[in-house]
Amino acid sequence: MTTENSAPVSGSIMVVGGGISGLTTALEAAEVGYEVFLIEKEASLGGRVTQLKHYFPKLCPPTCGLEINYRRLKDNKNIKVYTLSEVQNVDGKPGDYTVTVKTAPRYVNSNCTCCGECEKVCETEISNEFNFGMDRRKAAYLPHNMAFPQRYVMDSAMGKEDRDKVKEACKYDAIDFTMEESTFDLKVGAVVFTTGWQPYDATRIDNLGFGRYQNIITNMMLERLASSNGPTEGKIIRPSDDKAPETIAFAQCAGSRDENHLPYCSYICCLASLKHATYIRAQYPDAKIYIYYIDLRTPGRKYENFYAKLKEDENVFFVKGKVAEVSEESGTGNINLVAEDTISGEKIRQTVDMLVLATGMQPTCAIDKPAADLTFDDEGFIINDFSKGGLFAAGCANKPADVVTSNQNATGMALKAIQTLRR
Ligand SMILES: Cc1cc2nc3c(=O)[nH]c(=O)nc-3n(C[C@H](O)[C@H](O)[C@H](O)COP(=O)(O)OP(=O)(O)OC[C@H]3O[C@@H](n4cnc5c(N)ncnc54)[C@H](O)[C@@H]3O)c2cc1C
Ligand code: SF4
Ligand code: SF4
Repeated sequence: MTTENSAPVSGSIMVVGGGISGLTTALEAAEVGYEVFLIEKEASLGGRVTQLKHYFPKLCPPTCGLEINYRRLKDNKNIKVYTLSEVQNVDGKPGDYTVTVKTAPRYVNSNCTCCGECEKVCETEISNEFNFGMDRRKAAYLPHNMAFPQRYVMDSAMGKEDRDKVKEACKYDAIDFTMEESTFDLKVGAVVFTTGWQPYDATRIDNLGFGRYQNIITNMMLERLASSNGPTEGKIIRPSDDKAPETIAFAQCAGSRDENHLPYCSYICCLASLKHATYIRAQYPDAKIYIYYIDLRTPGRKYENFYAKLKEDENVFFVKGKVAEVSEESGTGNINLVAEDTISGEKIRQTVDMLVLATGMQPTCAIDKPAADLTFDDEGFIINDFSKGGLFAAGCANKPADVVTSNQNATGMALKAIQTLRR
């Protein structure tokens, strides 16, 4: 329908970061007719949610939502996706930006059928970052089974011998080692940054022993252990000896709400630990689960109901105390923990098979600031300055958030970007 007020479609929008927020902003803008450039630094879209087994509170796999988004993306000619790409510079003013983008070579073209023959013959192995180093992957690899695009990548760490082998193994002429890095400019009227978050580096929380004791893992590592495409094919086992854990503790606010680390509440880690209790319960009906917390934050009716359901499990124990010290029991690999009761100040001591640190979210921009005229808060989240206009942030680039909130905010920023083009 055309109305008197509708203006012709003009200008383009760039979205930087192809996680769930970036996908949402890109799709919402493209589906009303705008041209969108979606820039993703990894080889695949999807972001952090591709590493999760289930979403709270519904406990459905992220695959469903991602598949719907990928279908919308394939059906929409207005979106141009650039993977392995990063923004080098943003110059200009609202309605008229020049963005310099650098793209790294994938060494694989669109002939790839994902047959996997290159992976079979490749001998170079690299620590698998997708699984937080809990296993290794080949240098010829598909990032994960939910990868979009479904296309292999040849890691630049691959040596000459392996390069020859993979090229010979590929029957589709899909591998091309002459591909080179390229830098190019794109003209856009607005840019939405959806660069998301990184798990807070748990090795920095010295008193919680991560990296010193094998059976202390992070919440994101637990997501990968519980996922069927993870390093243990979904089995939650102790890293030190593959034993089925009988007692598992969670240390909430590991690095969050702490002036020495992340001063803010990361919003999702209480719900994530409650969700993790469901993963453990599904595999170990008798396991004892201890959640050490300062206060449990489960905002809203759905999240409160999720918490209430967990409380019905008589083997899930909620302990109001902050884990302050850890050590390893000699000979067993078990973890001794000491927590401070936040009300009485008394010490609680316990030995468990495994400890999970509920680490929080740090904005990617705290580590890697984009070269653009953006305003950041003290923690590195991008502040949306609507008076300035033109450059916006959505999802966890803007604040710690769950998927629903990220998507709402990403939809709002698609509208802000569109408004910039129509002024
Ligand atoms: C342990 C844990 C469990 C969780 N479980 C749930 C859950 O069950 N339900 C729920 O609702 N939420 C959950 N969350 C929160 C959820 O992960 C976030 O809400 C979601 O990832 C936010 O998506 P995003 O797109 O904003 O960021 P991200 O997922 O971080 O995506 C950002 C994207 O931007 C890319 N990028 C970064 N920098 C650049 C750059 N410079 N240039 C180009 N691309 C870049 C990244 O590679 C990535 O693809 C959980 C979080 C944690 C820590
Ligand atoms: S690059 Fe070639 S061998 Fe490797 S998965 Fe793709 S088509 Fe198969
Ligand atoms: S969500 Fe829970 S665990 Fe995470 S920082 Fe906030 S209170 Fe702590």
